[in-house]
Amino acid sequence: MTQSISKTDLPLPSPRVSDPQALAAEIIERLTYSIGKDAKVAQPHDWLTATIYVVRDRIIDKWMESTRATYAANAKRVYYLSLEFLIGRLMRDAMSNLGLMEEIREALTSLGVDLAVIAGLEPDAALGNGGLGRLAACFMESMATVNIPAYGYGIRYVHGLFRQQMADGWQVELPETWLAHGNPWEFERRESAYEIGFGGGVETLTGSNEEVRHVWKPSERVIAAAYDTPIVGWRGERINTLRLWSAQPIDPILLDAFNAGDHIGALRESNKAESLTRVLYPADATPAGQELRLRQEYFFCSASLQDILRRHLQQGNTLTDLPEKVAIQLNDTHPAVSVAELMRLLTDIHGVDFDTAWEITKGTFSYTNHTLLPEALESWPVPLFERLLPRHMQLVYAINAKCLVEARKQKNFSDREIAAISLIDESGERRVRMGNLAFMGSHSINGVSALHTELMKETVFADLHKLYPDRINNKTNGITPRRWLLQCNPKLTSLLREAIGDGFMDDAETLKSLDGFAGDSAFRDKFAAVKRANKEALSNLVASRMGIRLDPSAMFDIQIKRIHEYKRQLLNIIETVALYDQIRSHPERDWVPRVKLFAGKAAPSYHNAKLIIKLINDVARVINNDPSVRGLLKVVFVPNYNVSLAEVMVPAADLSEQISTAGMEASGTGNMKFALNGALTIGTLDGANVEMRDHVGEENIIIFGMTAEQVGKVRAEGHNPRAIIEASRELSQALSAIASGVFSPDDRSRFSGLIDGLYNHDWFMVAADFDAYAKAHRDTDQLWTDKAAWNSKAILNTARMGWFSSDRTIRQYTADIWRA
Ligand SMILES: *Cc1c(COP(=O)(O)O)cnc(C)c1O
Repeated sequence: MTQSISKTDLPLPSPRVSDPQALAAEIIERLTYSIGKDAKVAQPHDWLTATIYVVRDRIIDKWMESTRATYAANAKRVYYLSLEFLIGRLMRDAMSNLGLMEEIREALTSLGVDLAVIAGLEPDAALGNGGLGRLAACFMESMATVNIPAYGYGIRYVHGLFRQQMADGWQVELPETWLAHGNPWEFERRESAYEIGFGGGVETLTGSNEEVRHVWKPSERVIAAAYDTPIVGWRGERINTLRLWSAQPIDPILLDAFNAGDHIGALRESNKAESLTRVLYPADATPAGQELRLRQEYFFCSASLQDILRRHLQQGNTLTDLPEKVAIQLNDTHPAVSVAELMRLLTDIHGVDFDTAWEITKGTFSYTNHTLLPEALESWPVPLFERLLPRHMQLVYAINAKCLVEARKQKNFSDREIAAISLIDESGERRVRMGNLAFMGSHSINGVSALHTELMKETVFADLHKLYPDRINNKTNGITPRRWLLQCNPKLTSLLREAIGDGFMDDAETLKSLDGFAGDSAFRDKFAAVKRANKEALSNLVASRMGIRLDPSAMFDIQIKRIHEYKRQLLNIIETVALYDQIRSHPERDWVPRVKLFAGKAAPSYHNAKLIIKLINDVARVINNDPSVRGLLKVVFVPNYNVSLAEVMVPAADLSEQISTAGMEASGTGNMKFALNGALTIGTLDGANVEMRDHVGEENIIIFGMTAEQVGKVRAEGHNPRAIIEASRELSQALSAIASGVFSPDDRSRFSGLIDGLYNHDWFMVAADFDAYAKAHRDTDQLWTDKAAWNSKAILNTARMGWFSSDRTIRQYTADIWRA
């Protein structure tokens, strides 16, 4: 008989030592016994994996401690549901937050390995498109930092966002294979797997007491398998979990089919399941609209909610406790089907009555809206929704009926208002409105900047806001200062520590004490020297990747973000063409040498965005080869924008371009990264730019152009872009040059359609804002010539951006929405 051992008698693992010798010995140990490589023949990739294992071991002790503490306290848990997490590399983040960076560097050096070289080999996890996914990643880090027991839930895409290559200036999309060398950060949790159904029908059973029960009998089923990644908070105090779901066939080898000799059929079924989580939809701010996307949404919501309820009940809680113990944040409408899924789980599976389930649901969910663009509001054709999720369709109708009755009875809503708040869009093809579903099913709906939240109340959710006036609130976005200052800009970090001490590393708002240094000329010189070194680093990257030489003493004027008409890269490149004309016409003037840098991906199906990339590259080729502007103007489009590239470009910027059409950028977070790193912003009064101006002071930011209100007015009254263009010599010359093929001699009409759009409708107010933008740039030139004034403003930007830390944002969510 085997002696059974009580679990409390099990030996504890020995805590890890972290001096460089011990670390070096462990790296060799891992290389040998986990990877099976002799140090003499190990490849850089093997060293990377061994190093990650050693860092990871130090995370695991704390990770288990955090989980145990949450369980012991039966604390309220926060769940962040997001179809995207734009994480980037994790190793430096983990080492830096654990305070292990220098020890690991030393350990590797003693082994003859350069940390910077192997760190550059780590794949950049791009499980997201842009700002929304990066916000989710910053929030994960901040939730761990401010000690919130939080879980992120998403999809483990095999292929993240595509890799962008340039072919003759055109964007080409290549598959991203971030898992090709395995992923040492993740732990597969075979025990945490759930069945997810699709299709089929609903059976209605009437019990003895006249009680009606609904049983969904799906026709297809897949398994959601969990993969966990630890998320390290600042100073390693708390480690949270990012749980990503992967789809697998119910029976991984489909034995029946296989044994019956149907090998191909068995494989096809297995491929079908796995294809569910194979790719991230590469569209930003516009819904993908395909059936596979709805399947992805439901798949990850159902798995997450089953997991959340399992954990909640295992802890000994009851279902009516749910809002007290669980807060679920929906990142945009992508997880909105969760509202119907939680209702199904509560009523059909756990036998809770409909009205109680509805109260629990609203108490548990909250929803973040990220865009007001009408084309971006997610909705699904009723026939598709009904075929894929027949029980959820019934629940959507039931929820709708309940809310519409409330609206008519209690608030006397008119037919127009009822039609506007309904979950079903009845104009044309009937569609399920996911924004309205998320709104009705949540106790809190937040916008992501003050302006965006106000516009939300006036536009998309005007009628729902009237029905539920206390639900909408604002939570201005933020960025984690660990990644976006301490890690990406170590030189500035050292300088700041020297000047104001280490307090800002724990509380970004204390950067304020840097204010007094703006007037200190010795400090200004040091600040400028850091900027110069970061510009040299970017110049080296551009030289090695693209063979283009940049002059680090020129102004680095940078616009990096998804390519979209509302973000107006077109405005920037047209102004660049106008500047090029001006320099050639007036060579006698003292022009400020500029480097215009761009980076960003276009959705593969977004024709105009891809054409704008081509235009930037065509303009770059002509300008960079024209000796008459040599040393004064350069244009560079850096391929394959991602988090890692941002980490090099952001610290190197003198000027940050945040020039969206006012009213269209919900917040922006790129704007915050640049200003924190001492760039001046040229921008419109849009998104968080408005609050940035309030914080840094209007004399330290360059604001131009129409306000959201003016844009709204012009849109309503109609404007005449042709007249505006004809009245501006600079603009009409630049447009004629582009439209007539000066930059595209191989295809002279390449850009004529793009430019015609400006003459005919100018939806994004490029023509309308051009003169103000061009003037703002010339004012910026003036400012640049006074280096003391420029550097002092740059310092004040860094000093006053602490409020935009995502720690502050997370504290506000915690206090006002999650009450955790
Ligand atoms: C911050 C960030 C974004 C968001 O940038 P915006 O300028 O706010 O649109 C997008 N992609 C990456 C890789 C980022 O780091």
